[in-house]
Amino acid sequence: MANYILALDQGTTSSRAILFDAAGQPVSVAQQEFPQHFPQPGWVEHDPLDIWRTQRDVAHQALAQKGISSADVAAIGITNQRETTLIWDRTTGEPVYNAIVWQCRRTAALCDQLKADGFDRAIREKTGLVTDAYFSGTKVAWLLDNVPGVRARAERGELAFGTVDSRLLWNLSGGALHITDVTNASRTLLYNIYAGDWDGDILARLNIPRALLPAVKPSSAVYGETVANLFGTAIPLAGIAGDQQAATFGQVCLSPGMAKNTYGTGSFLLLNTGEQGITSDSGLLTTIAWQIAGQPVIYALEGSVFITGAAVQWLRDGLGIIQSAPEVEQLASSVASADGVYFVPAFVGLGAPHWDAYARGTLVGLTRGTTKAHIARATLNAIALQSRDVLVAMNHDSGITLSALRVDGGASQNDLLMQIQADVLGVPVQRPAVTETTALGAAYLAGLAVGFWPDVDTLAQQWTLDRTFEPRMADSDREVLIAGWQRAVERASGWVRD
Ligand code: ADP
Repeated sequence: MANYILALDQGTTSSRAILFDAAGQPVSVAQQEFPQHFPQPGWVEHDPLDIWRTQRDVAHQALAQKGISSADVAAIGITNQRETTLIWDRTTGEPVYNAIVWQCRRTAALCDQLKADGFDRAIREKTGLVTDAYFSGTKVAWLLDNVPGVRARAERGELAFGTVDSRLLWNLSGGALHITDVTNASRTLLYNIYAGDWDGDILARLNIPRALLPAVKPSSAVYGETVANLFGTAIPLAGIAGDQQAATFGQVCLSPGMAKNTYGTGSFLLLNTGEQGITSDSGLLTTIAWQIAGQPVIYALEGSVFITGAAVQWLRDGLGIIQSAPEVEQLASSVASADGVYFVPAFVGLGAPHWDAYARGTLVGLTRGTTKAHIARATLNAIALQSRDVLVAMNHDSGITLSALRVDGGASQNDLLMQIQADVLGVPVQRPAVTETTALGAAYLAGLAVGFWPDVDTLAQQWTLDRTFEPRMADSDREVLIAGWQRAVERASGWVRD
């Protein structure tokens, strides 16, 4: 019996590989960054060969540094940067162009056109997504329309489209597999998340031939195996999920009403809504959370906040009032409150549920008594209050009341921030001992498929709490803080004009 699961975590700036043991503990981690390409303002690309080279190398390193052989790996699970789009030749594997990264804005005009035609309604109803250049569909259309020869080759069935998971499975299986999973499919703008199939109307509107598309599989299932010469012996390929969905699974948010928030540069919140996909009136996304083979699809509501940890970076790099991000905790703790100061870090506009591209950062309520400590405290308040705005919208859309919030990501190590989060939400915040939740989720999905773990209850038991933050703030204080925040958001709204 093999003792480990290998999780491949292919991110936007680096590839990581982590070996997990049966207790769900990371035993070996390897990571490599790779180059970002910005051929024009607003365009972002990756070289598909860099993605594969770094991912393959870190997988080998993770095994080698602990002297673990491929025979001791029960399965591989994959989690990936979502929406990033690749097309390659089915015979040679050669990419026709660089990977177009999720951040790339090159198809914004096409999205505007779809919206002007009113086609965004159909897209939302079928895919659960807003019509935006982030998602893969318009990137595929761009490749077909702009790279010479690609459309003709696609129509002859010679080419394959995939998100990063698809491409890695293709590479790992030596070209035997052209598949994706339901979570990645649900981010393409081409997949009907309710019907469970690629959508004929959207494909027709974007003029995308079906012959390009991968087969869509559950997130936990045995898909095939690695070519034997890659790691020595063949390893089953058995789990796939997009990064945020994998983190939700790694946090074992398995029942409706459970939610996780990842605090990084920005924050990603996902609320499990069970077997029901819920359409949002607040600009949240409806997405597939995962599917275990033989079981129904599980849905989630997703909302993101653009600037959370990045606001702390700004205190460090823009204002220079702290030397390192963790220092913000000590500075903010030196005062009991922000003393009426509010900071709305709308540096790039505001996302869900405000959706205001013209909002800009605002610092209000300053007096002669205001110090850098109040500004630090207002920054932590803002991170928590922005996340609260998304959770309130989720509650409004779903009718589901949050029971607790599970947290991860770099800034979740800040105890004061987590306490403020519990205070403004009025529900407990739970921080797990293992915060590698993205890779862990991919490992769990793979391990379940091969029987390395018998069932999800075993996973739920493995989830170990580092610390719970119970809400302590008086209701009246919370109301004052939230009311002030709402007024500050009004001040930030619509600040810049065309
Ligand atoms: P990403 O994956 O987006 O790069 P990470 O999960 O590595 O992000 O978290 C890094 C972010 O968290 C940075 O924006 C940093 O400013 C912030 N951060 C890190 N540690 C702390 C802390 N102790 N308190 C507040 N913010 C922090």
